[in-house]
Amino acid sequence: MATQLVTTAAELREASARLLAQKAGRSQGLVPTMGALHEGHARLARTAVEQNDVVVASIFVNPLQFGDAVDLDRYPRTLDADLALLEEQGVDLVFAPSVEEVYPGGEPLVRVTAGSLGEKWEGASRPGHFDGALTVVAKLLHYGIPRSGLPATGAFVSGGGGGLPAYRAYFGQKDAQQLALVRRMVADLNFPVEIVAVPTVRSEDGLALSSRNRFLSAEEREAALVLSQALRLLAERATAHQPLDLESARAMVESQSLVGLDYFDVVDPLTLEPLAENCRKVPFRGEGLALIAAKVGPVRLIDNVPLSS
Ligand code: AMP
Repeated sequence: MATQLVTTAAELREASARLLAQKAGRSQGLVPTMGALHEGHARLARTAVEQNDVVVASIFVNPLQFGDAVDLDRYPRTLDADLALLEEQGVDLVFAPSVEEVYPGGEPLVRVTAGSLGEKWEGASRPGHFDGALTVVAKLLHYGIPRSGLPATGAFVSGGGGGLPAYRAYFGQKDAQQLALVRRMVADLNFPVEIVAVPTVRSEDGLALSSRNRFLSAEEREAALVLSQALRLLAERATAHQPLDLESARAMVESQSLVGLDYFDVVDPLTLEPLAENCRKVPFRGEGLALIAAKVGPVRLIDNVPLSS
């Protein structure tokens, strides 16, 4: 079935209810994106298509999460290519609302606040970013609620159970802090949705795919590889129960002159609090997450890798 583009909440409600009825659907998946899609987004969409009867992808560049108007203006917009990519994955509906549709009264008075988890790491260099991101994710999760269909058969039943279709939303591990915050929001505020995490998709040489990679020169792209190399080194040390020796991995990144390191640390995967002991000269035990952020030329890049031993 061809992918259908809708731009208003009313159209989305009508189209998703119709599709759920047509397909006798028992589940709906939502894939929130900002467009400029690549294979990472495609993986999210494919996972959603595999797991749900009806899949909605949203494309919305959210002004609320950009501190810098220039960055917002520069964000790539490639709607035609995005639609083709989503159609190829089997997405049923693309919801691409205008800013006025999402924020009809201008900036919202009442917002979601990310709390202390939103102030560290990315939040430290992008004040207010996660409040803006969570506010729009909250809205998108509400837009995407399935409205009708047959009783759910999956493990997750939205709302109070009974006749409502299952509802799942898909987020990339690439944005680990956003994923942790979305999980906390859904748990803390009882959103009727299951959050599904999708592993990071990388290019063959290891660079995590990102819509911002297109702004890297060939030389900067080459230099940026040190981020994933340093993360992989830590993952290998963790698996081998060796000391992580974060300092030597940091030095490796800092030796690359085109890379300005912002942070590189090992944290608890849920709270994102540093795992101080585990970072140093003792053999790694347990679970962790290595987080890195750096400016490469004009582009700020983030990446992370799970650690397990
Ligand atoms: P964005 O359009 O950048 O806001 O990203 C939309 C969704 O795609 C988010 O849940 C991201 O975490 C996810 N995503 C972005 N890059 C990747 C990647 N390389 N691999 C997997 N998921 C990704």
